[in-house]
Amino acid sequence: MSEKNLKFNTKTIHGGQKPDAAFGAVMPPIYQTSTYAQTAPGDHKGYAYSRSANPTRTALENALASIENGKYGLAFASGMAAIDAVVKLLKPGDEVLSTDDLYGGSYRLFKQIFEPFGIVFRFIGMQSANNIEVHITKKTKLIWVETPTNPMMQIIDIKAISQLAKKYAILLAVDNTFATPYLQLPLDLGADIVMHSATKYLGGHSDVVVGALVVNDKELADKLYFIQKASGAVCGPMDSFLTLRGIKTLHVRMQRHCENGKTIAEYLAKHPKIEKVYWPGFQEHPNHEIAKSQMNDFGGMISFVPKGGSYEDAIKIVEKLQIFTLAESLGGVESLAGHPASMTHSSIPKAEREKIGVVDALIRLSVGIEDADDLIEDLKQAIR
Ligand SMILES: *Cc1c(COP(=O)(O)O)cnc(C)c1O
Repeated sequence: MSEKNLKFNTKTIHGGQKPDAAFGAVMPPIYQTSTYAQTAPGDHKGYAYSRSANPTRTALENALASIENGKYGLAFASGMAAIDAVVKLLKPGDEVLSTDDLYGGSYRLFKQIFEPFGIVFRFIGMQSANNIEVHITKKTKLIWVETPTNPMMQIIDIKAISQLAKKYAILLAVDNTFATPYLQLPLDLGADIVMHSATKYLGGHSDVVVGALVVNDKELADKLYFIQKASGAVCGPMDSFLTLRGIKTLHVRMQRHCENGKTIAEYLAKHPKIEKVYWPGFQEHPNHEIAKSQMNDFGGMISFVPKGGSYEDAIKIVEKLQIFTLAESLGGVESLAGHPASMTHSSIPKAEREKIGVVDALIRLSVGIEDADDLIEDLKQAIR
């Protein structure tokens, strides 16, 4: 059976994997080694030094490529390291168009690390693909898309943007952290690069910090591999193993995340003390039609604003939650709650934040896979 034709739920478990050659271990061993014996100078079994390659990392990279329907996977020490590698494809003077509702760490990397090196970033609304073309110049080399966006859950039309990117020969990269390949496959929709903070849903157990890139083009893969090796922010063997183990249950976890997400989004939407709920599964969501066409389901990420809520009200609610843990991050089996204004988005100036809807009272939930009844009871008591 050709691997490409396997269904997603099979790929998460078998994609790019075969039993270890040495002893038939079904799970790839943790090759906790920095170097490899050579029989003559340069004569080795494909591994010379673990920054360049490590067999456990290779197993993870093959699995990543498989589940994203791509040819080449690369695993990094963090999601930020993966994004850093993508921007290093550029040179001073190049321009990047990015979504304006963006992971705070990506905004910080772009503005504070790469802008001083002469790369120009423009943050624009991308809910309408028509809004993008006017910003394209001869210097535009990369379009950076996050969808669903964080924390406003806007949905951006990957296919429409990829047509534009192709027309002007611009690279299109999609941060697929929130959706995961269970929900959407950016490469199939025309993106050149798919990026993950595998720290989140792919790892799934809040026990690693890992990043990933997947591409189809050999030349692009070679360039990224060179940057990975030369800059050195690689994923270690233990973290590779844990992420690989996480990926094997991605499909069953995501199914439950989506079910619980729907139940909770609907509960909050009916709650008299809740002003607004952001979740792409609602028919009234402004991008619901795009969500339906490019995603298989709507995920477990939800943001909401309490009625007449202030900064203090939001803090009070998140502090009262007992099953939802107040924490940064998302995508683990356990439910988390966050307050973007003081946590993930505190590095974005208040005026910038509020322009895109990240008001002081906004609360973001990463709905876990616990029993939905318990999660609702928890929200009920905290909001009361
Ligand atoms: C967490 C996150 C990142 C950064 O990944 P790390 O693994 O924390 O470095 C990037 N994008 C999104 C959408 C994220 O949620």
